[in-house]
Amino acid sequence: MSGLRFQVVAEAFKKEARRVDAPKEPTSSYFGKYTFGKEQMSKYLSKDTVKKINEITKSGKPLDRDIADQVAAGMKQWAMELGATHYTHWFQPLTEGTAEKHDSFIEYAGAPGEGVIEEFSGKLLAQQEPDASSFPNGGLRNTFEARGYSAWDPSSPAFIVDDTLCVPTVFISYTGEALDYKTPLLKAIDAVDKAAVDVCNYFDSNVKKVYSYLGWEQEYFLVDEGLYAARPDLLLTGRSLLGHESAKNQQLEDHYFGAIPERVQAYMKEVEFEAYKYGIPCKTRHNEVAPNQFELAPIFGETNLANDQNLLIMSIMKRIARKHGFRVLLHEKPFAGINGSGKHNNWSLGTDTGVGLLTPGKTPQENLQFVTFMVNILMAVYKNNALLKASVMTAQNAHRLGANEAPPAIISAFLGTQLTQLLDKIENSTSEEGITLDDKKKMQLGIGNIPEVLVDNTDRNRTSPFAFTGNRFEFRAVGSSANCASAMIALNTVVAAQLREFKKEVDAKISAGQAKEKAIFEVIKEYIKISKPIRFDGNGYSDEWKAEAARRGLDCETSVPRIYDAYTSEQSVKLFTETGVFSPKELIARNEVKWDTYTKKIQIEARVLGDMIISNIIPVATKYQSILLDSVTKMYTVFGKEKADKLSEKTLQSIEQISEHIAVLKNSVEAMVEARKVANRLEK
Ligand code: ADP
Ligand code: MG
Repeated sequence: MSGLRFQVVAEAFKKEARRVDAPKEPTSSYFGKYTFGKEQMSKYLSKDTVKKINEITKSGKPLDRDIADQVAAGMKQWAMELGATHYTHWFQPLTEGTAEKHDSFIEYAGAPGEGVIEEFSGKLLAQQEPDASSFPNGGLRNTFEARGYSAWDPSSPAFIVDDTLCVPTVFISYTGEALDYKTPLLKAIDAVDKAAVDVCNYFDSNVKKVYSYLGWEQEYFLVDEGLYAARPDLLLTGRSLLGHESAKNQQLEDHYFGAIPERVQAYMKEVEFEAYKYGIPCKTRHNEVAPNQFELAPIFGETNLANDQNLLIMSIMKRIARKHGFRVLLHEKPFAGINGSGKHNNWSLGTDTGVGLLTPGKTPQENLQFVTFMVNILMAVYKNNALLKASVMTAQNAHRLGANEAPPAIISAFLGTQLTQLLDKIENSTSEEGITLDDKKKMQLGIGNIPEVLVDNTDRNRTSPFAFTGNRFEFRAVGSSANCASAMIALNTVVAAQLREFKKEVDAKISAGQAKEKAIFEVIKEYIKISKPIRFDGNGYSDEWKAEAARRGLDCETSVPRIYDAYTSEQSVKLFTETGVFSPKELIARNEVKWDTYTKKIQIEARVLGDMIISNIIPVATKYQSILLDSVTKMYTVFGKEKADKLSEKTLQSIEQISEHIAVLKNSVEAMVEARKVANRLEK
């Protein structure tokens, strides 16, 4: 270890935990204090305006100017009372994280120079025009039409950070194409809502809306800022590019769920207290498997809001880490040889009548609905497994997926024994015994009830990328630094498309004269058969599974750029167009941005690696070599040639070895530079 590293380690040992006191009031009394949520709306807006906003949020209809003005006035008053001086449209470009352009509330009161007043009109709330020509757009905008619009998303409450009112917005181009994650996410949520309501109405005509729910689990590493600063690779790429495994890493499994170190505990507490102010319902905190790896998870919520909250908390985590002398690493694989970080996306659907569509029901009718959704989801994941993988794949996540770590680079679904048995049973029963009507003419699954214990009984399979865990699926392949929207757009869209297809097939059978329940049963039965290859309960890390998955025709591609091709396959284009989530033009552009980001990340890593070798590694090697040379020369003076030759044998070998290694390093760096030049030319 170099002198610098000894120094920063010694410094880190001396650091004490920052004192973080819990707020005096109970959490519930300040929860959401910095958000313009329900409570604030009812205080600062008229009843009528609140009602209209709720309608707009539900229907997704555009906002009329009058309402926008009233909301803006209320929001401004609230924000100014909390000390806000600026406002911004907060949006999610296709880079990581979020973007914002701050404007002050001030305007001239009259003629220029005659003093200022604070202003925030409906127009400013509803729309802003950040000159966003430098955001990645995949060719959707030329510089002459570089304008992008951001427009308010009333379904996610505005919030205040650092004296700035942040308004969650979508970000679209002048010509109407989505340039962000939120726009297609809202469309995908809408598509799955409509398609799922139609299917629910087979069972219950009271269902008017189906919500998509997301509960993310955020994994991260904490590194002392001194150690962080001593590593140019961590600093510039978020991961260590050089080094060797620590003699002690996670072999003893003594970190997972262990006692949380004091400095870290203080950090976690402060992040949570801050999160509560923003209405983020943080629930769980614990150590993860790898040393210095931790996890934070809130209670699940509606997908669009939950995703905004995840983006917000990632920035809160980074901000608070600095106060504690830490840096937070959200990279999917910061260190080789120990576990990487994911962001499990727990996902489910639920109706406005309060029924969880992935929760085995209390009544036979609810159970049939449960089976219908379960089987359609399996079909959707089966047919689009390549696309789902593409939705979570990045240069960073590639080090997790397929690297013998949770989860593998092949998408499969884990159901557990009981559910598997249930589907087998349906598959093997005839429609006569399968579905019947009870005396109230409600549909019954003729195969007995689904045991209620199912919820508690789903055995865990940590190696599965898409696992059923009692009342939801857990999409585990999502990376820790990702915007969950990418995965959620894909998942909600494929399920929406599948439910539409299901309805079409069932309706066709009904039109042909078949009874509704029989039609549903027959389609379900067929789907169970077709989607079987996606079901896998074994060890997802094993080589046998790779071979088996290939035999089953699942996508086994491991090269990231090729994986992205799934976005522009004929099937995906059809899927996204039919559901209205992406136009073909948007898909091509998005694919291009993914490619471009991947290329740039690899390019940066290659540059940093080359620089570190030339300016850190080789000088150290040369210095050590010259120390050895000195020592040999001195041997000659002290002992004379014959004895010195003998005594220096090993040292001379080391000197030669160092020269050889330096040559290899130099040649490899040169070769890497040449390879980059070729790649750059190819790209142009
Ligand atoms: P585990 O570590 O066992 O996977 P956690 O408690 O860390 O579980 O996280 C589970 C996440 O799943 C939480 O965010 C939780 O709120 C969420 N969740 C629970 N039920 C549902 C559901 N029906 N739909 C979506 N998310 C859910
Ligand atoms: Mg989990």
